[in-house]
This record gives sequence, C-alpha cells and structure tokens, in this order.
Amino acid sequence: MERKVAIFDTTLRDGEQAAGIRLGPAEKLDLAKQLERLEVDVIEAGFPISSPDDMEAVRLICKEVRNPTICALSRAIVADIDACGKAIENAAKARIHTGLGVSDIHVTKIFAAERYGKTLEEKRQTVLNMSVEGVKRAKQYTDDVEYYAMDAGRSDEDFLMMLFDAVIKAGATVINIPDTTGYAVPEQFGALIARIAERTKNSNVVLSVHCHDDLGMAVTNTLAGVKNGAGQVEGTIIGIGERAGNCALEEVIMALRTRKDYYGVSTTVKAKELYKTSRMVADAFGMEIPMNKAVIGANAFAHSSGIHVDGFLKGRQTFEIMLPSDIGAPESSVVLTARTGRHGVRHRLRELGYSYEGEELERIYERFLKIADKKREVFDEDLIAIVHDEVSTVPAVYVLDYLQTTSGTGTIPTATVRLNIAGETVQGSHCGDGPVDATYKAIFSLTDTRAKLKKYNIRAVTSGSEAMGEVIVNLELDGRMGIGRGLSTDVIEASAKALIDGLNRLASKN
Ligand code: MN
Repeated sequence: MERKVAIFDTTLRDGEQAAGIRLGPAEKLDLAKQLERLEVDVIEAGFPISSPDDMEAVRLICKEVRNPTICALSRAIVADIDACGKAIENAAKARIHTGLGVSDIHVTKIFAAERYGKTLEEKRQTVLNMSVEGVKRAKQYTDDVEYYAMDAGRSDEDFLMMLFDAVIKAGATVINIPDTTGYAVPEQFGALIARIAERTKNSNVVLSVHCHDDLGMAVTNTLAGVKNGAGQVEGTIIGIGERAGNCALEEVIMALRTRKDYYGVSTTVKAKELYKTSRMVADAFGMEIPMNKAVIGANAFAHSSGIHVDGFLKGRQTFEIMLPSDIGAPESSVVLTARTGRHGVRHRLRELGYSYEGEELERIYERFLKIADKKREVFDEDLIAIVHDEVSTVPAVYVLDYLQTTSGTGTIPTATVRLNIAGETVQGSHCGDGPVDATYKAIFSLTDTRAKLKKYNIRAVTSGSEAMGEVIVNLELDGRMGIGRGLSTDVIEASAKALIDGLNRLASKN
C-alpha cells in the first residue's frame, strides 16, 4: 500500500514568529480557514503561553476550523503545557507539540545553572526527565502528542535515541526531528532519519521532519527525510520563518506529486489551492513573492527563450513538468475591460478561486469599473489586488475624504488632507520632502497617532506606466507591528490609503 505523508503547516507559528508582523486572532483565523481548504493535515496555530493574543488565536481556530488537527506549541514546562491544554479544549482534533533543545550546545547553554546538573551527562538526564514529564502532562489533555528534539540536526545521536525511546514510552505519538539551525545536508540527514526509523519501527510513532533553510537546503533535507521514512513534513507557505525561513511546503507538495515515481508517497493536500494560499499568506505578512520562486512565482510557468517557446507550442510537456492549473494558477491572462459586465467579472473571479456574491461582489465591481476606466485593460493581477483591497474586514475609524498634493521642480511639496475620523471631519496641510512625505505628515498630525512608519514599499501591479501602484506600509504602535495596503492608479493616493488602512488595522487590534 502507498505510504501517506502528512503535511504539517506552521505558517501561523514558526512563520509568524519571524515575520516581524503579529497577526491578530481574526487574521490568523482567515489564513487557518484557507489552510483547511488546502486540506493540510495539521495546522500549528500558535504558542499559547507566549501572549494572550496567541492564546486567543489558538482557541478561536480550534472552535472554527474543524477538519485538520489543530496543534499548539509548548516547551516541556508545566505552565506551557497547561496553556496549550486550555487553548485546545474546544477543538475537534487537537495536538500538543512539546519538547526541548537537546544538542550539547543547547543543553549546556540553556541549562547552564548548576541545579540542572554539574556535568553534561547530568544535564542531559535532566533534559530527558523533563521531556518525559512534559509528554505525560500533555497526554492529560490529548492523546495526540508530538515531541520535538530541538536542534536534533546537531545532536549526539546516542543521546537522541535514548531520548526518543523514553518519550515514546511516555506516550508521544509523533517524533519531530528538527534541523532548527539549518545545518543538515541531505545524505546525512536522510541517513539519520533512516536510523531513527529503524530504531522506532516496533512502535506506531510517526517521524516528522522540520527543516530550516539557512544553507538553502530545507526542502532537499525534508525530501531526504521522506525518502528515508518520515511520515510527516513540517513547513510554511512560501517558506516564511526564522532567519532564511522554513521548508517551503508548496515545493515539497509539488515535488512529491511530480516525482511520485521516485518518492512513492502521497499526500491528501488539494494542490489547486496552493496559488491562492500563497497570495493570501504574502498579503497577510506584507511580503512579495519573488518572480522566479519555484511553483508559485509569477514566472514559474513562463517560457521566454526562443527554443523553449517553440517547443512549448509544439507540445507543452517538452518544457513543462507541471501545469499552472495543478496549483490553481490562472492558465491564461484574460484581459477585462470597462465593457466586461458584472457576470464576466464574477466568472473570472471564480476561475481565480474567489467566490463573491451580493454586496461584496457589487463593491468589487464598482471598483473594477473605476480602475477599468482609468487603465483600459484589467489583468488578473489587478483583479486580485482589487479583491484584497476591497474585501477588508477591518472597521474604518479613519476615512480618507479628500487629498490634494502639489509637487514638481522648484515647488515646495505640499499636501492638503481631509479625513473623517469616527464621524468628525478634520482637515490640514503640510509640507514635506516630496508629495508622499507631505501627505504622511498631514495624516500623522491629523490622526494624532503614536504609530511610527517602519517600512514603505511600492510596486506596480502590472507593467506599463498606467499600471496600478500598490503600497504596503509597516507601522509600529507601542511595540506592536501592523501592515497597511493601498491600491490606486495614482501612487500618492495609494500611499495615503495604505497608511490609513494600517492605522485602521492597528486601531481594530486594541
Ligand atoms: Mn522552526
């Protein structure tokens, strides 16, 4: 029988941890619902002891997302595990993920105090005892307990094996072998997984691999793990995560699928949801997907060299090992114009994986008409950007009512802004280094916010000077980060909208 490999997504935990952006519980729920549509097996939703927001996010996802297993992270410490227990109490299927750092470096540095033991041997024994106690405690809350041996990629193998024997005996159902520092190389890592598989073959434990991309080998190491017996892979969408990131799940999923002849395993993921999922994740974290990113990049299916195009036209298998439709990417770029009716827009949105009706569809359509009026041709990328701009769940405290700027050679850039703040109209003007700077100074002074601008990013959604500009800003308020986005054929207006969107998002998190 064909072996099944489970997909464990940790975008909301390991991914978020590194993004510099804290998502609110509602934003995390939106992504979790999309991960459910992608049909991943496990969603690691957060680290409940780390913040009240994380606790609430895990609880909310447990309540609303019922098909995948929802996993909560902890250290093998009583308070952490009890927080997980509380977070998962309403889940349909829940898992607690617990463990400790087990490499000599972790053992001697993290457990430096003498109360953990004087020698390395004694400290290792402490780590082993804490791990066993942690698994036992987690078992009081759920049967499904995953143990992680942090920094396993650099750990003493004899100790690792002893540790695994002990936690399996204590009830661990999944053993995670993380290469936390991205130090492993495929042949060596694969061989380690094979030895652990051999050692644990008489138990029902599932082996999991969790690789980081510091040397650009997270996906290769993960695949080496699968080839050698791992039954679960951990990673994130687009590979976002600590430092250089985690293993990019879309790459692993498509590699296992495209090279089934070699790996001989299957997953139950719905690959057709990958394109949309990757766009949603990029949006939520305010990041751009590189053009040449494997599987989901804008050029992943583009053929440009003469020989390739010629071959492609004679038969697409000549230079194409996957189809855009496999991951739900738009097959051909359909161009819409102002003459495209409501039904046409709705139909194209459906093909792109977005179902909107009623009032939401109407808002998107109105916006589409305005854009089509200005730039004549509306591409799929434009349509997706409009959707993400219009369908916002954030209540608007600040509304942009009027914006006028002057700039040019020999003039002092000035902006006049009128805002509606919770029903009241305020107006002001400011000078600046340029029209965007002037606009931002005016908005900051009118809103009287303590929020600070940390990052400003602008890009053209499609090519050509009439393209829409999309602005993404990172804001910080009292140590919390939030993003805002704005879209317009006028880049100054797009900039103002992005700042106001960011301020609204920060206000809604209070
Ligand atoms: Mn990690």
